[in-house]
Amino acid sequence: MSAAKLESSPLGNPKVASKVASKVASKVASKVAIIGGGLAGLAAACALADAGAKVILYERRPYLGGRASSYEHPGTGEVVDNCQHILLGCCTNLIDFYRRIGSADKIRWYRRLTFLEPGGRASQIEPGLLPAPMHNGFSFLTAPMLSLGDKLGIARALLALMPRLPEDDGRPFSEWLQRHAQTANAVKRFWEPVLVSALNEDLDKTSTAYAGLVFRDSFLKSARAGEMGVPMVPLTDLYASAASYIQQRGGEVRMRASVSGIVPTADGVCIALSSGDELADYAILAAPFGSVAKLLPPGLGADDLRAKAAHFEPSPITGIHLWFDREITELDHAVLLDRTIQWMYHKSRIQRGYREANTGAPNEPGSYVELVVSASKSLVEMPRQEVIDLALRELAEFFPIVREAKLLKATVVKEVHATFSPFPGCDEYRPAPVTVWPRIFLAGDWVQTHWPATMEGAVRSGYLAAEALARAAAIAPGSFLVADLPARGLMRLFPE
Ligand SMILES: Cc1cc2nc3c(=O)[nH]c(=O)nc-3n(C[C@H](O)[C@H](O)[C@H](O)COP(=O)(O)OP(=O)(O)OC[C@H]3O[C@@H](n4cnc5c(N)ncnc54)[C@H](O)[C@@H]3O)c2cc1C
Repeated sequence: MSAAKLESSPLGNPKVASKVASKVASKVASKVAIIGGGLAGLAAACALADAGAKVILYERRPYLGGRASSYEHPGTGEVVDNCQHILLGCCTNLIDFYRRIGSADKIRWYRRLTFLEPGGRASQIEPGLLPAPMHNGFSFLTAPMLSLGDKLGIARALLALMPRLPEDDGRPFSEWLQRHAQTANAVKRFWEPVLVSALNEDLDKTSTAYAGLVFRDSFLKSARAGEMGVPMVPLTDLYASAASYIQQRGGEVRMRASVSGIVPTADGVCIALSSGDELADYAILAAPFGSVAKLLPPGLGADDLRAKAAHFEPSPITGIHLWFDREITELDHAVLLDRTIQWMYHKSRIQRGYREANTGAPNEPGSYVELVVSASKSLVEMPRQEVIDLALRELAEFFPIVREAKLLKATVVKEVHATFSPFPGCDEYRPAPVTVWPRIFLAGDWVQTHWPATMEGAVRSGYLAAEALARAAAIAPGSFLVADLPARGLMRLFPE
């Protein structure tokens, strides 16, 4: 609801608001409204439902998962993810959330990453017997994609990241790489492929603290921290069980319920919906940065949030989905070097085992692959067919069989507002979960967690908001946030 509309709504009237407040106090106890069924809202809702709160989750779409969801694509008739989503072993809160809702067995874990050059030469990075942080050392030393000079430079830079995270000094990570004398090849084939996909931004616009976090927490800390988890089911299937988790604990999940405003009252909050206003004792607003301020009542608190949100800019991600008549590779996934397309996920192979074991559905021949381009500014304006042609041309450089294979169907999903850009200094503008309104809390990947915009960041923010609310409402003592993975090997000397 816009500020103007809110003022003209009965909720904007203080008399109505105070009537509403007394109703809240007399009729409803520990009722928590959660606005947004993305990862942040779901994590908060599940944690609070578990702690005994009566949770009502409002989601404007007909499915859960927010920016991590799937749907039946009208052009192809296939269920597609809005984009391939992956996680890492260091995503302890996301993994905790999967365990909670019974989805942990739908994630397939990989220890090996394959980097492919055009022409098909492969470098495989995987842990060996050496202790952290050298666990990937042997495969790294033998990787043909980098020269000895590139590798020595990378090793020196990683050594600098070992003791502690670099500070956000307002300068981009590209400058940190220059200061640490990285070769052009090391940047292009090592730092960029990992960081651009993890942070969804070009390195000359990326905060040094976040880039450091990605490498230190996933690559250096332990072998487990760097394992890559890939869902074996469409994203909405991964998160659908959160609804029954909430319902089994006395909560409700309202789909197609678009909230147009939240008004704090003396003893609670009033939630404005097109079907009528509803009351709750507390609310967590778990919507993206672009819509939060619009949902809050006009005034200083909303102005401050609006001013903070104005500093954030979205960065796009493009997924190119291709269905071939034959299998184009035996790899489940690969980093694609030196081209526009950055990652290949062989979804038919990744999903195969789970589908066979759990649904009995026959596996179809052929390959379904999704190619992902993060920070895909150059593709946003490009017509769909041109994107597909470019992707096919480039894919054939890595897998020549693509030239002979028949393309059965294809689609492009451009997520223009995929994540916020982690620009240098962005931490200053990320709001805390508590607000000026004692009964309204914030969650969402943009809220302060010191994590970039990821599923882990969203779940962390949900747990943090739930913790703050539980304290305020005396619902449950203690903490929902899960500890980070312990450092292993020599990294135990630097336990930051
Ligand atoms: C293309 C793409 C690829 C990505 N890849 C990865 C990846 O590989 N790994 C990773 O960890 N992360 C990835 N991310 C980031 C990750 O998806 C997000 O950081 C995370 O899902 C954000 O969760 P959230 O709950 O904060 O926000 P959202 O998912 O945006 O959830 C907000 C929810 O609120 C609902 N809502 C908004 N307004 C209202 C309203 N007024 N009333 C009711 N409901 C409302 C929305 O419909 C939405 O469901 C990717 C994101 C995108 C878009």
